[in-house]
Amino acid sequence: SPKRRKISQNDSMADAVTKPSNGKNNMLVWFRSDLRTKDNPALAHALQKAQDQHESEPGRRKALVIALFVLSPSEFRSHDVGAVKVDFILRNLATLSEILWESYRIPLLVKTSSSAADVIKDMHQLCNAYSVSDLFANQEYEIDESRRDAKLIKSLPNDHVEFHLHQDQCVVPPGVLKSKSSNLTYTVYSPFKRMWFDVVKKSKDKYLTLARPLSDFPSPMNSVADLESLSIAHPDAIPDVLKGFELEAEKKKHLEELWPAGEVNALQNLDKFCSGAGKHESPGITAYNDARNYPNLENGTSRLSPYLAVGALTTKQCIVKAMEANGGKLDTGSSGIVTWIQELIWRDFYRNVLVGFPRVCMSKPFKLETMNIQWLFEDDVFQSWCYGKTGYPIVDAGMRQLQKTGWMHNRVRMIVASFLTKHLLHNWQHGEKFFANSLIDGDFASNNGGWQWVASTGTDAQPYFRIFNPYTQSEKFDPDGVYIKRWVPELAGLKTSAAIHNPHSVLSAKELVKLGYREKPIVDHKVARERAIAAFKLVLGKG
Ligand code: FAD
Repeated sequence: SPKRRKISQNDSMADAVTKPSNGKNNMLVWFRSDLRTKDNPALAHALQKAQDQHESEPGRRKALVIALFVLSPSEFRSHDVGAVKVDFILRNLATLSEILWESYRIPLLVKTSSSAADVIKDMHQLCNAYSVSDLFANQEYEIDESRRDAKLIKSLPNDHVEFHLHQDQCVVPPGVLKSKSSNLTYTVYSPFKRMWFDVVKKSKDKYLTLARPLSDFPSPMNSVADLESLSIAHPDAIPDVLKGFELEAEKKKHLEELWPAGEVNALQNLDKFCSGAGKHESPGITAYNDARNYPNLENGTSRLSPYLAVGALTTKQCIVKAMEANGGKLDTGSSGIVTWIQELIWRDFYRNVLVGFPRVCMSKPFKLETMNIQWLFEDDVFQSWCYGKTGYPIVDAGMRQLQKTGWMHNRVRMIVASFLTKHLLHNWQHGEKFFANSLIDGDFASNNGGWQWVASTGTDAQPYFRIFNPYTQSEKFDPDGVYIKRWVPELAGLKTSAAIHNPHSVLSAKELVKLGYREKPIVDHKVARERAIAAFKLVLGKG
């Protein structure tokens, strides 16, 4: 099985370019945000093409299927992929490599590249080196990735290589659903969702059929002797750590336990969530409607987002599983299940927005007029938010959960994002960047969509004057303070509800300092709320 080692940035793609062409009919599968073998259309089509070719030209050398992943530290940096997610990607790659090799003798090659321009150049070299006639990948919708792929689609035919791009990230690919009235990209979620349900129900086979699994194809796929003729004796070693993205040993171990990598774990977690009995301790999918808002409930939500973010799992797999639990129904039946499916539809919605309005990928808000908001920036205030030292217990708990686990509950994401953009009046883009660098489930479309929704700058955003009150949110969704006490241990000994949710209303500054908590909240709730409304009103011209 593949060995793990440290990778150096000298392991460049160009090193691979030494081997002679032997017939040029090999298939190269380029894994990107799709680190799985099941429901992987690019992989399934590559296998299919190799098999079809073999059947139609039995005298010809059987096409080899080779897998590739390109590690690009500079792209991780420029796209704000932080160490926690990089670590998860590497761990998922290791399990992917193992499945591909052990069961199918498909070697996963891992090459490093320093920029998108280099990727294009290197891809040409790799295709030549490995006698590739067909390159397969699943589409990524972000602007840099789309441009890179568009260039490859144009240039690879010069080398007699066909680039096949498949769709795996959405159930209904971006651009398919258009507003009935204007024939334009939806900017409001509810009508998008209604149309999504209509279209998917009408064409279930088209939208909900999973890609053919590897097990449909003969094993092993490749002859080892043929691989050796290309000097591929085994898969490349997967680096255990990438230079510049190191984690402290203790944190790495904790994350490995918390988020075990690979599609097998992802599918097991999906199964567990979908078969949840709906009990309070382990609510699962049928209780999702209520349980999803309570951050202290371990399984109140699925916690599948990290697996979806690296593509160890697809939205389609989730929906198919949820429908199984719902007697085959999509938008009727268990309200918990339908609500969960609706949350998954947000993924399609935000990808649709990304493609329809590429400016959101270029550091611009969806509502351009909000560029004129007079945001504040004070580094010490921002750092206090980042590291959970604001004096608002629910905000501090959320930010500390993020630091420790790489993940934060959705309800708390909304509270902390609102706090940064409204109470502290800091530009949502700072929060978006910090989240992207800290989250294990960092996903551009959902992160950008989530931040812009909260900051009232995005599609279907919440009105600027609706500002989350962190105290009442906390009382409502963490009534016993279990979540707060877990993540803010300074407050663990507090007995009354008032003290837990708003310690400054009960304890003196001296008592709080003794506990190790902030003497005064970073801003006064009422004052901050009024300041935010005034700043937004000025720009949005209301009232
Ligand atoms: P569940 O409640 O079990 O939902 C199932 C899946 O549906 C999730 O895994 C996710 O893929 C999808 N989903 C649920 N809610 C949303 C939503 N509002 N928007 C888009 N997809 C959704 N999600 C990310 O995956 N990556 C991010 O970087 C990200 N950043 C966010 C930033 C902010 C400010 C906000 C408010 C939300 C963000 N979300 C992001 C959305 C949401 O918080 C997470 O998807 C969710 O908390 C993941 O937990 P779960 O897997 O238990 O979700």
